[in-house]
Order: sequence, then structure tokens, then C-alpha cells
Amino acid sequence: AAEEGFDLEDVEGAIEAAGHGPLPVLAVVGRPNVGKSTLVNRIIGRREAVVEDKPGVTRDRVTYEAEWAGRRFKVVDTGGWEQDVLGIDASVAAQAEYAIEAADAVVFVVDAKVGATDTDEAVVRLLRKAGKPVVLCANKVDGPSGEADAAYLWSLGLGEPHPVSALHGRGTGDMLDKVLEALPEAPAQRFGTAVGGPRRVALIGRPNVGKSSLLNKVAGEERVVVNEIAGTTRDPVDEMIELGGKTWKFVDTAGIRKRVHLQQGADYYASLRTAAAVEKAEVAVVLIDAAESISVQDQRIVTMAVEAGRALVLAFNKWDTLDEERRYYLEREIETELGQAAWAPRVNVSARTGRHMEKLVPAIETALAGWETRVPTGRLNAFLGELVAAHPHPVRGGKQPRILFGTQAGTKPPRFVLFASGFIEAGYRRFIERRLREEFGFEGTPIHISVRVRE
Ligand code: GDP
Ligand code: GDP
Repeated sequence: AAEEGFDLEDVEGAIEAAGHGPLPVLAVVGRPNVGKSTLVNRIIGRREAVVEDKPGVTRDRVTYEAEWAGRRFKVVDTGGWEQDVLGIDASVAAQAEYAIEAADAVVFVVDAKVGATDTDEAVVRLLRKAGKPVVLCANKVDGPSGEADAAYLWSLGLGEPHPVSALHGRGTGDMLDKVLEALPEAPAQRFGTAVGGPRRVALIGRPNVGKSSLLNKVAGEERVVVNEIAGTTRDPVDEMIELGGKTWKFVDTAGIRKRVHLQQGADYYASLRTAAAVEKAEVAVVLIDAAESISVQDQRIVTMAVEAGRALVLAFNKWDTLDEERRYYLEREIETELGQAAWAPRVNVSARTGRHMEKLVPAIETALAGWETRVPTGRLNAFLGELVAAHPHPVRGGKQPRILFGTQAGTKPPRFVLFASGFIEAGYRRFIERRLREEFGFEGTPIHISVRVRE
């Protein structure tokens, strides 16, 4: 590295920054209007989680990446509020439940000016039951005079209330320090510890594509009692299913079966639940209704899985209903609408007839294998050397930026850091990704490539 003009510390820093696996998840929960979205904006440091788009407007972006004091994590915002659907208490409970499920730690936001309400108490009960670390945020403490209001919130029994003004930023830094103490380095409960345990699969897709039918079909008579499997923690929303001679953990299946939140207008819950399932899973099987045109909603769900960095399988359901013409158009639609996941293995199934159910497991295994692939540094650099020699970066301003060397910093999904002598254009980055895929496979997995430029 030294002779290429990078100092060792820079190289190691870049590798470490890129090498993280799945990030721990922080959920921000609380009643409507206590300031959750405002706080999320503070935490992520940009105005992406829109505060103005409420009430009652559907929002499908629920997770964001954030960084504080050099640590990265994800934030789940539950501010997308749909109170008509279930009534206030049930709605708050439902959204909090999903978010807490997926989280490694929770920030519970209470409006200190209002004090604790019955709805707040209901959320406290949920938090107790879940047993996740909680940081209590006493929001809307805009100045010193509000601190007394915050102190009243000791009564919730969640420990110290942290007085914060999400709007002005007062106290948010101290609170985030506490959050980092509560948040594990990695989402250990869901990754890492379960070595050799069942792989975690999220079966996701928009309403009516056939998720529950597929689940019933694959579970069939083979359903296993969770407690009988050694070394697994019991989670009532997950289901162990025997498939292809192996046991798989289908996460959040209760949400698929129960469907209480899938009434009209409840798109937001569907998004939140999808995000929660994706966070808990290693591989996402996105089910798409092949009989209908691929919709924006289908695309969003695929994007969610890709952005979360999970392995991905695309399953086209209701194949029994397709005629020649529809099959033709479907292929065109897949090319134009799902190009972002062209690398995902694909299965054409029918939950009704059982068609191609046996292909599901090989596809999932392929995707997981791609997700875990590690390319040895020697092999990667031999490949990069040949690639750069045969297809140099275009000359810009009389200079030719070059990829000098690279390394794979992590897996799940594969993450690469490339070190370059100058700015590498987006087109060339895409070219490198394409060639990496051709050379090393990576079927069924997103890959991340970051480029470090020599100072
Ligand atoms: P959510 O429904 O919990 O996501 O709440 P929002 O983030 O949308 O905030 C609800 C209202 O409270 C908005 O009008 C915010 O501007 C306001 N708000 C949020 N945080 C603070 C704060 O720290 N101080 C004051 N005074 N108002 C706040
Ligand atoms: P979910 O909302 O995604 O769980 O979808 P469901 O499993 O409830 O299925 C929605 C509808 O599609 C139901 O009427 C199912 O009977 C039907 N359906 C599901 N899978 C298939 C399939 O493979 N072929 C056909 N023809 N219909 C299906």
C-alpha cells in the first residue's frame, strides 16, 4: 500500500469502515405528534424523514442509516401515522410492536409538556414484554424551564428520562450517547450467535400476491414444533418450516397469517412489517403476482431488501393462471422494472398447484451462498490488474485515474474497497461491478463497492 501512495492507517480505516456486516437497528416509537419524525431527522442529520406529510399520508420509507460518534446503525421511524384504521391505541401499539420486534434498542419518545398518557402506558407495557434496551426521550424540552416536566416521566418506570428538544437539538447528543451504550455493536440476536442454526427467511410481497397461500403450501404437514429444535429461541411470530431436508426459520409469519393490519388503507403497516421482517432475515423471498403488471409497490419491496443488504430471491406466483401472452409481457416487465435486481435467482411458482415448490430451496441456497462469498485478496487483485489493463478508465483532464488495488472488507453482503489514484466515474464503477459479478458470481446478493482516492 505504501508504495502506491496510501498510508497503512488510511487503508485499514477504509477497510474497517466498509467491512461492517448488518447494522444494529434502533427503533423510535411513541404516540403521534410527540416528535418522533423530528427526532429521526435529527439523528440521521438530514431532512429525509418528512415531517410535513402527515397526518394519514402513506409513507413507505421507514428505515434510515445513521452515524453517531463514529458508529453506524439503522433507525426505524414509526412516524407514518394512520389513525383511522384501528383507532389510536391499537395503531400506536401495532406500529410500536413491529418496530420493537425488528430493533436491537428502542428510543421511546414522550411529549414532556403533555406528560404520560394512557397510550404511553400501553407502549410501556409492550416495551417491558419485549425486553429490549430502552432509552426514554422526554421531548419538547426546549429550554431549562421544561426540565421539571421531564422529571415527571420517571413515573413510567423506564429509568432516567432524557430531556431533549428534537426541534432545536438541545440534549439530543447526550441522549444519543446513551443510545450507543444501549445498542449492541452488531445485531447479535439475529446474526452471529445463531451459527449453524436455521437460516432466516423473510417471505415478503404486497397484499394478495399469495404469501399466506405459499406459506401454507410449504409448511404443509411438515410443520415443526419450535421447542423441539435445540438451540433456538422461541419467537411466536417466527415459524420453523422443514423444506428440502432442512429447517428454515420463516420470520414474522404471524403477520402474514393474522392480517388484522391488512385492512384497507393500512399500507403503512405493511411497509413497517416488511421492513421489520427484512431486518430480521438473512434472505428475502419477494413474492410477485405474475398475473398482474409489476407495480411500483413490488419495486419498492425489492428495493427495501436490496438496500437492507439482504440476499434476495424473486418468486413469481400464480403461474398456473398465465397464458402465452402474459408470459411474454412478464419477461419484458421483469427486464424494465426489476433491472436493479437482475442478479437475483428467480423461480416461477404456484402456491395453488404446488408448481416448482422444490425450486425454492435451491434458489434460497444460491442467494445465501452469494451473500457469503469471500474473494481472496490475491485473486481479486489479479482480476483487477487484468481488468484495468484491458479496460482503462477514460482519460479526464489529461489524467487517467487507475484502480491501484482492492480488497473485500466484508460479507453478508460482499463489500469491497477499491483504492484509486483519482476520481472513478459512476459508469466505470458500474462496469467494475458487472465484471466482478461475471467473474465471481454473487448470484442473489447485492454487492457494495466503495472507492478510496489517494490524497
Ligand atoms: P411524530 O408524529 O411523533 O412523528 O411527531 P412530529 O415529529 O411530526 O412532530 C409533531 C409536532 O411537534 C411538529 O409540529 C413538530 O414541529 C413538533 N415538535 C417536535 N419536536 C419538538 C420539540 O422538541 N419542541 C417543540 N416545541 N416542538 C416539537
Ligand atoms: P397474501 O395477501 O399475499 O397472503 O395472499 P393470499 O395467500 O391470501 O392470496 C391472495 C389470493 O390469491 C387468494 O385468493 C389465493 O387463493 C390466491 N392465490 C394465491 N396463490 C395462488 C396461485 O398460485 N394461483 C392462483 N390461481 N391463485 C393464488
